[in-house]
Amino acid sequence: MAGLYIHIPFCGRRCAYCDFYSTTSPERVAAFLEAAKREMTTKRSFFERSPLSTLPPSAFPAPPLCGDVRASVGEPFNFQLSTIYIGGGTPSLLRPEQLRGLLDHAVTLWDCTPLREVTLEANPEDLTNDYLARLCKADSSPSVRNDRAGEPVRNNKTSGLVLCHPEGSEATRDLPLTFNRLSIGVQSFDDGLLRLMNRRHNAARAREAVRAAQRAGFDNISIDLIYGIPGMTDAQWERSLDEATALGVQHISAYHLTIEPGTAFGRQGLREVTDQTSERQFARLREKLGEAGFEHYEISNFAQPGRRAVHNSAYWTGEPYLGVGPSAHSFDGDRRREWVVADLERYISAPAYEGETLTDREIANERVMTGLRTAEGIDLLELRIMNYELRIAVERFLRDGLLVRENGRVAIPPERWLLADHIIGMLFRVD
Ligand code: SF4
Repeated sequence: MAGLYIHIPFCGRRCAYCDFYSTTSPERVAAFLEAAKREMTTKRSFFERSPLSTLPPSAFPAPPLCGDVRASVGEPFNFQLSTIYIGGGTPSLLRPEQLRGLLDHAVTLWDCTPLREVTLEANPEDLTNDYLARLCKADSSPSVRNDRAGEPVRNNKTSGLVLCHPEGSEATRDLPLTFNRLSIGVQSFDDGLLRLMNRRHNAARAREAVRAAQRAGFDNISIDLIYGIPGMTDAQWERSLDEATALGVQHISAYHLTIEPGTAFGRQGLREVTDQTSERQFARLREKLGEAGFEHYEISNFAQPGRRAVHNSAYWTGEPYLGVGPSAHSFDGDRRREWVVADLERYISAPAYEGETLTDREIANERVMTGLRTAEGIDLLELRIMNYELRIAVERFLRDGLLVRENGRVAIPPERWLLADHIIGMLFRVD
């Protein structure tokens, strides 16, 4: 199975720390949406190349490159999607109907029967009661609820699958699909820090957005937080953590702020916080969320039991995913990576792609890099493909407590994850 990522390259304003690809000019939304659907259609056989695909290549006719998409797609491929993630940018700048149009289009292309998670990234400012009601609206009534992570996306009204059906029959495939998970960009519950970062919302709006989403029926909500913000005191950080845990969300992603040269913070010459500050705030993050019952399962991610992010977890385990939209990356689950050139106008007229085919060494390094950022770590068997010097380094890290070994796997102890880049760098194969 595979994941679909759709990058929405529009934002209401530019955050001071952000170097993601997006524009604050909304004029091209309609043209972008058409281009995104065209790209999905063009790439519907992308997963054919995945080693996880069970169908022979001959089962995949050449996809149409242009023309009326709906008229030309025909039957959906049998390749199964397990997750869809609409991120950006700020997808919640788009109307719910526009977002659902993208989901509807995916249904015409792939078998969505086993969909477990359909996530929308949202800015708190956009999550009004009306917006949420329209987001949840499926089949012209507000009847679609949001099931527990790991279960198929269902429609309460019918108690059946929202879309696709076991045999992919025409009638059931036409049922609408909607979101069962929200990822809300809160970042902080401190108004001064939100202003410093040039966020559109304030703390009260962030609280209200989460509560409104809960009232609308979303019971799988993730919020993003940022630590290591220049000037943020430990007390401010603790208050944000307390507010986050009090809201009863199922998932928290907490990122350390890095200052990139092309951002407003970079141009202002802001300096990153000291290692000591990072370590203190990371330690409080782990303590507070641990006390609140969150499992620290990846360097930046915490989940209540059973609520890990399914889509993002697939990135770390080497499963195939298709990225649509300017700057989006795709991976075929084997050794091919591709990405869309980050240029909206070019994307609308004729998207350009770049890519690379990973060597054995690069694949090994990727496994080390992604695996050692997770609580599960990596299989010792995978380390066998490393050369003698690197195995020596592993033994040394095990002795020093920078790695632990359990059930045939090695992992960085979570309290040492701030050192992950250093440890991983030392384990990279360079031959
Ligand atoms: S809303 Fe998100 S993608 Fe847009 S500028 Fe801010 S951080 Fe970047």
